[in-house]
Amino acid sequence: MIERSRLSDLLASEDRLFEQRHPRSRALYEQARAHLLGGVPMNWMVRWAGAFPLFVEAGQGAHFVDVDGLRYLDLCLGDTGAMTGHAPPATVAALAEQSRRGLTFMLPTADSVWVGEELSRRFGLPYWQFTLTATDANRFALRLARQITGRPRVLVFNWCYHGTVDEAFVTLAEGGAAGPRWGNIGPAVDPALTTRVVEFNDVPALEAALAPGDVACVLAEPAMTNIGIIHPEPGFHDALRAITRRSGTLLIIDETHTICAGPGGYTGAHGLQPDLLTIGKPIGGGVPAAAYGMSAAVAERIRAEKDRIDQDAGGIGGTLAGNALALAAVRATLEQVLTDAAFAHTIPLAERFEAGVRAAIEEYGLPWNVTRLGCRAEYWFRPRPARNGAEAAAAIDHELDRFMHLWALNRRILLTPFHNMALIAPGTTEADIDEHTRVFREAVQALVGASK
Ligand code: PMP
Repeated sequence: MIERSRLSDLLASEDRLFEQRHPRSRALYEQARAHLLGGVPMNWMVRWAGAFPLFVEAGQGAHFVDVDGLRYLDLCLGDTGAMTGHAPPATVAALAEQSRRGLTFMLPTADSVWVGEELSRRFGLPYWQFTLTATDANRFALRLARQITGRPRVLVFNWCYHGTVDEAFVTLAEGGAAGPRWGNIGPAVDPALTTRVVEFNDVPALEAALAPGDVACVLAEPAMTNIGIIHPEPGFHDALRAITRRSGTLLIIDETHTICAGPGGYTGAHGLQPDLLTIGKPIGGGVPAAAYGMSAAVAERIRAEKDRIDQDAGGIGGTLAGNALALAAVRATLEQVLTDAAFAHTIPLAERFEAGVRAAIEEYGLPWNVTRLGCRAEYWFRPRPARNGAEAAAAIDHELDRFMHLWALNRRILLTPFHNMALIAPGTTEADIDEHTRVFREAVQALVGASK
């Protein structure tokens, strides 16, 4: 359908366009290369479609302006960190206020009490702790699960992503073992020692992997979001819960991305009953903050370990975790930004995005599909939605991916890197979505070589 030579030609001209339009970003990037490894403050930031990253001047709501003065619709939103929109006024006001009263004490503030109550209300788990990142929340949840079950292993789903967590940075290898994920930098140990991996939606494989009784916990996104959006099939969550309970395995649900499903995430929307739940990214409106919650039974088992858990250096916690600034940000964000009303605005816009993309795919007969979860939507280069990570991974097409991103970027729309994901913020409008649909349709038109 898509001639590769046409794709390469289109990419080359989009590359030229990008370079012409961003002289200041290019100059900053050249300068940065002298003292920032790879020319960026964090290695993922070179993974954008253009020859160099855009440097940001400022962002507000669903838009930002780059250092060349160009304004963009942001459908990446800091890969969910800014799902609230940029600089949400309520969060900014709370940050300003808390900044004047001190940033971190290693003592609690009253905001932590409010936030604990609110997270319990949203997710149905009574006890909470805070970290700075979702990665840390996952690492601590895994450690606690090992501690209280006395079991060594964890189970994750093939092609999952839960942050830079050694045990979870794995893929399914030949013969069904957990293998190192391609490109994993300096893994601590052979992941087969720590981890079992099965495909998402594969109930018999899950049953078999938990049967030996040596797995402390399953760590899962309730719908996968980091290899396209992969929905659980009907009955999958019931089976997951029943099998984990039967085998004495704890269930940790990672809601860091799936908070897009609604104010209580996928767990709240679908009545899941995890033993532990982790969440990070947007809960602080962009300020580093994350949390993990647990059931009363898990909390009881942790308390029962008190003589064996070293509160000071037991491998969980952190100096700046639960700091006053972060909790002020989380409180304001949950109270005033990521509200029921916000989701009532963003979810229909994601439906509009999905419908627009689907119509263009159908119009040009491309073998692509688009999926959605709450206010997140994503297209993928295969005819039907994938059932699991392996199916989704088999359809990755880096060149096509880069083209779709660069085409959008040159028309002032930022998609999430690594995949074709769009997230909707409270400040996104119908006109923004329709602009994306127009740009997407023109990209598809150009790809198949159709006239307008
Ligand atoms: N869990 C999920 C589901 C994620 O997608 C990510 C990051 N993409 C993380 C955890 C880790 O978040 P962070 O990088 O902020 O620690």
